[in-house]
Amino acid sequence: MPSRSFTFEVLLPDGNSLLVLVQKKPEIKNFNLSVRPRDGRIRLSVPVSVGNDAIKHFLISKAAWIEKRLTVSTNTVQPIKKSEYDKEVVSVFLSFVKERTAYWESVTNLASSAIRVKNMTSRYGSCNVKTKKITISLILIDKPPICLDYVIVHELTHLVTRFHDKTFYAHLERFFPNRKEAEKMLR
Ligand SMILES: [Zn+2]
Repeated sequence: MPSRSFTFEVLLPDGNSLLVLVQKKPEIKNFNLSVRPRDGRIRLSVPVSVGNDAIKHFLISKAAWIEKRLTVSTNTVQPIKKSEYDKEVVSVFLSFVKERTAYWESVTNLASSAIRVKNMTSRYGSCNVKTKKITISLILIDKPPICLDYVIVHELTHLVTRFHDKTFYAHLERFFPNRKEAEKMLR
């Protein structure tokens, strides 16, 4: 069986979620987790026989450790990494994100306090449930537009509940019935 990679979203205790690149490898027997503090990229490799539930439980159990690693990275003085995206492209993308957010806010009747785009690789978006600020990853520039819509509605839905629980998905699907299609593209 060949190696297989996919992205896993994990909710952290602070309400943020992380994207973890999971790789199933036939030649290994242990879980290997690494966090790259520079840009917060999280990778996990597991044996092929490990199921998704086990991966989820493992990552949740490691959430505090992951968070700590990520906090270390933000508190450490690092040279500013040049954006991989052209400035103009980023500003156009931000305008587009703002348009789409305004649209979805009117549809869902949920309101963020601010929206920004950021060059982050560990997640597609985040929502601070206290300040209602939403951050969208620049990675979405390279994804089909449905993915951006999905992430916006996903993050707005966190204003209803911070967890990925039944209420969350019921609300999300009310406004985004084709969420599974988008989730597939984001994997
Ligand atoms: Zn989420």
